[in-house]
Amino acid sequence: MQNYIGGQFEAPVSGQYIDNYQPATGRVYGRIPASGPADADKAVAAAEAAYPGWAALTPAERSHWMLLLADGIAADLEGFARTESNDNGKALSIARSVDIPRAIANFRFFATAILHFSTEAHPMAGEAINYTLRQPIGVVGCISPWNLPLYLFTWKIAPALAAGNCVVAKPSELTPATAHRLAELCQRIGFPAGVLNIVHGLGADIGQAIVEHPGVKAISFTGGTATGRRIAATAAPMFKKLSLELGGKNPVLVFADCDLEQAVATTLRSSFANNGQICLCGSRVLVERSIYNRFRDELVRRVEALRIGDPMSEDTDQGALVSAGHLEKVEAYLALAREEGGRVLCGGQRVTLAGELAGGYYLRPAVVEGLTNDCRTNQEEIFGPIVTLQAFDTEAEALALANDSAYGLAATVWTQNTSRAHRIAEQLQSGIVWINCWMLRDLRTPFGGVKQSGVGREGGWEALRFFTEAKNVCIKY
Ligand code: NDP
Repeated sequence: MQNYIGGQFEAPVSGQYIDNYQPATGRVYGRIPASGPADADKAVAAAEAAYPGWAALTPAERSHWMLLLADGIAADLEGFARTESNDNGKALSIARSVDIPRAIANFRFFATAILHFSTEAHPMAGEAINYTLRQPIGVVGCISPWNLPLYLFTWKIAPALAAGNCVVAKPSELTPATAHRLAELCQRIGFPAGVLNIVHGLGADIGQAIVEHPGVKAISFTGGTATGRRIAATAAPMFKKLSLELGGKNPVLVFADCDLEQAVATTLRSSFANNGQICLCGSRVLVERSIYNRFRDELVRRVEALRIGDPMSEDTDQGALVSAGHLEKVEAYLALAREEGGRVLCGGQRVTLAGELAGGYYLRPAVVEGLTNDCRTNQEEIFGPIVTLQAFDTEAEALALANDSAYGLAATVWTQNTSRAHRIAEQLQSGIVWINCWMLRDLRTPFGGVKQSGVGREGGWEALRFFTEAKNVCIKY
């Protein structure tokens, strides 16, 4: 792979490359540029050169270009899905039904949202009128993680481009392939050069270089809390606009009056979809004591039935974890859970598949019980196929356990009692609350977390407001 700068594919200035591993086999299957500050300079210069032209286009013209990108991905959905599955280890069925359709939807949503974006007026009776201009910022940096690679990459660049900015974007070095395929699509359709620049490499090198670059006026970042803290420390003294979507330790509250079948079936998904590598996955499942045993036994039965296998196979529920390092991290948390007194009810063993898949990063999903909420297993983000179960007796106790976390991204509540649902939703310290569902997403809604789960909101108008500067104009009569 090469960097995509100013509409051209370019080798990194250093001439150095990083190995790209295929999680399904554990083998190196490609190389990506090891970019650094000199590549950031080139990408920012290309974006700055393109900016006046792109910002001057009408929203309809920008929308046209973005819809061409959406159409291009849609026409190559299978190719993008296979590339994603190959690069990330996720089951092809998920890449095909979730990741790539959502990337298309991201472009379509913001390409059309910008046509309806309007600004406010504040009349001062008989004296003056104020109106607000919302203008693009200039060159912005978009940095995304490995778990939903193209999905989260486009979730950032689509609103940035729609609002009239030019972008320097960096996918995770673990999963660069679909971003590269998108760059190829840009070149094929003649997408205006320099408007979207994609640079590859390590976060500490090229990621940090983008954040530090004085030409980059805003940073939209999704990733871990520790990285977010570092980015904020770098960007804040430079007065850059910052949107940080960070980690989570999401609670699932299951009350005895829930629809048990739906609660179990969805908790299976909310725990283990994409191998638990979704920031919105529930990781602490809190169950009312009177149904605890029934819920636990049924969940464990279904977890044991999940099929771990070749990501490319149609029969696979769970593919490989993203990297050897991540597999080891998840295993270390399982060991910690045992040390802290947890009982592993199922899973946690490595799976060795046959043939060339023997070196892949496969792990049986695990369910753990017997831990208190204050232990490290229940406080630190694992971001893998492990959930813990805890019993509670009262609504107040469930709420206290749910809120006893440094994080606050998403929470799920299972109850048929509407009053309780509203009451709890109001009191949960969380950016997103799902009642009797999970991951049901409307792209117009605000998306983001509280506490250490982030700063700012993405989605809908929130994203378009982030990627624009508001300017008030006051005219005296
Ligand atoms: P990281 O924080 O390690 O990395 C995220 C991105 O930032 C990667 O592209 C990474 O590059 C880059 N990066 C790393 N260091 C720096 C730096 N100093 N300056 C600039 N960029 C840097 O997260 P992961 O990729 O491991 O993703 C998993 C995390 O993402 C989890 O904590 C998860 O909760 C969170 N997440 C949050 C979501 C949300 O919406 N709140 C959604 C999805 C995930 P590289 O990989 O090349 O090192």
